[in-house]
Amino acid sequence: MSNECLSCGACCAFFRVSFYWAEADDGGGQVPAQLTEPVTPFLRCMRGTNARAPRCVALQGEPGKNVSCAIYHQRPSPCREFSLSGENGITHDACNRARAHHGLPPLYGTDLLSLTIHNAATDRPSRVQSPPD
Ligand code: SF4
Ligand code: SF4
Repeated sequence: MSNECLSCGACCAFFRVSFYWAEADDGGGQVPAQLTEPVTPFLRCMRGTNARAPRCVALQGEPGKNVSCAIYHQRPSPCREFSLSGENGITHDACNRARAHHGLPPLYGTDLLSLTIHNAATDRPSRVQSPPD
């Protein structure tokens, strides 16, 4: 987990974390089967993530504060493949959306338009305050 993720965990409490059933340890994989629940005959999800207010059963701590994954080395593929925004200089909307849901600012990929407006707003007073030539 990156440092940002250790104080976030938003994606573990926002999405349904589903994967092919055989990723679970009773199908030859490594995810503890007792922490999963069926979605379809071929899909399972992390228990707790197929709820109206999702929260993975393996998530420890409080999202936005201090978190860890109880099965980090056995976590399923969606968790391994999920990228935090800013990784390799790329905006990842899913990360930003999960963070926004938990009241956290985006890590990367701030909207350029609002940045421009913000700069324009802060530029103007300094121009007004500049001494005349
Ligand atoms: S939402 Fe993004 S920053 Fe937060 S834990 Fe997930 S990948 Fe990391
Ligand atoms: S298995 Fe771990 S990384 Fe994946 S959603 Fe659950 S707490 Fe997050």
